[in-house]
Amino acid sequence: MRICNACRYCEGFCAVFPAMERRMEFGEKDLLYLANLCHDCGECYYSCQYAPPHEFAVHIPQTMAEIRRQTYSEYAWPGALKGLFAHNGLALALGALIAPLLFMTYLYAVAAPGVFFGAHAVADGAFYRVMPHGAMIAVFLLLGIGVAVAFAAGLWRFWRDLGEPLATLFDGKAMQQAIVDAMTLRYLDGGGEGCAYPDEVPSTARRTFHHLTFYGFLFCFAATSVAAVYHNLLGWQAPYALLSVPVVFGTIGGIGLLIGPVGLMWLKIARDPETQDRKQSGMDTTFLAMLFLTSLTGFLLLILRESSAMGVVLAIHLGIVAGLFITMPYGKFVHAIYRSAALVLNALEKRRPVKLPVGEI
Ligand code: SF4
Ligand code: SF4
Repeated sequence: MRICNACRYCEGFCAVFPAMERRMEFGEKDLLYLANLCHDCGECYYSCQYAPPHEFAVHIPQTMAEIRRQTYSEYAWPGALKGLFAHNGLALALGALIAPLLFMTYLYAVAAPGVFFGAHAVADGAFYRVMPHGAMIAVFLLLGIGVAVAFAAGLWRFWRDLGEPLATLFDGKAMQQAIVDAMTLRYLDGGGEGCAYPDEVPSTARRTFHHLTFYGFLFCFAATSVAAVYHNLLGWQAPYALLSVPVVFGTIGGIGLLIGPVGLMWLKIARDPETQDRKQSGMDTTFLAMLFLTSLTGFLLLILRESSAMGVVLAIHLGIVAGLFITMPYGKFVHAIYRSAALVLNALEKRRPVKLPVGEI
């Protein structure tokens, strides 16, 4: 970092280098912050005259990726589950397999004879004949609360270790700026021509596929929220008509979640091995696979909902969604929490006067 501060060649690439320049020393909290501000585009590696084989061996993307991996594990809550990050691929794969099996067994056991494997007409509350609405809400409410608590605990400890009081995390202007930066992936545009990913040729592919994944996820979340309003406030029960708001939102989001994760996976495979952190591959790949499977089984449910396969497909879909929920705080999803917090701090720092240790210069 000190070499970068003297060199400054990359200062326009992303938010990391201006943030470095606001510092003279790099303690643990500075590295924690900078590593989570980095989007891992690799651009600075290709531009660096001090990268390997130079004897200085400056490799910012690799250094940042290693610190980020430690962050994810260090701030996982409860602490007993930290180890999941070391075996993340295996844990997620098992979660993706076991959760549907458990759902299938449960639904088969509680459904009236003939209901689980029966064909049902749309718009008669068919899903809830297979799994009672109360049980569905209880399972996903408990999972949702557990995930929210795990994220909040990790975020609070991360923010505290950045040396910030809790109040600054909720600074309105900084939050607003961070949300805009995160929603637009501002630092992944490589100055307009695209970032250096998967190799040194500028490309907007990663930004595009990330947007499809992120907004796909948001549309699916919106579809579920609208369905909850329909059910609880209007008394309209799922499944809904093809042109209803939840199905249209779910379809748009589902398309994003089919294309986005496949595109990101393809970029990951094509990425220059020199800039990859191979220890994160399992975590990255299985998270993308879980998103893809959530969408795929959602579409299968939409297509097969009037057939006798509906019960089985519903169980698989709910199981995969439950597996995604359970593993979210112990997988790649956490990057969204820590990067957003780092963007808030970046917005705060830009407004603060730079404090350099004048007496030591
Ligand atoms: S990454 Fe290399 S080129 Fe970029 S600022 Fe640091 S030392 Fe300079
Ligand atoms: S890898 Fe990309 S985002 Fe990370 S520090 Fe280098 S230029 Fe910035």
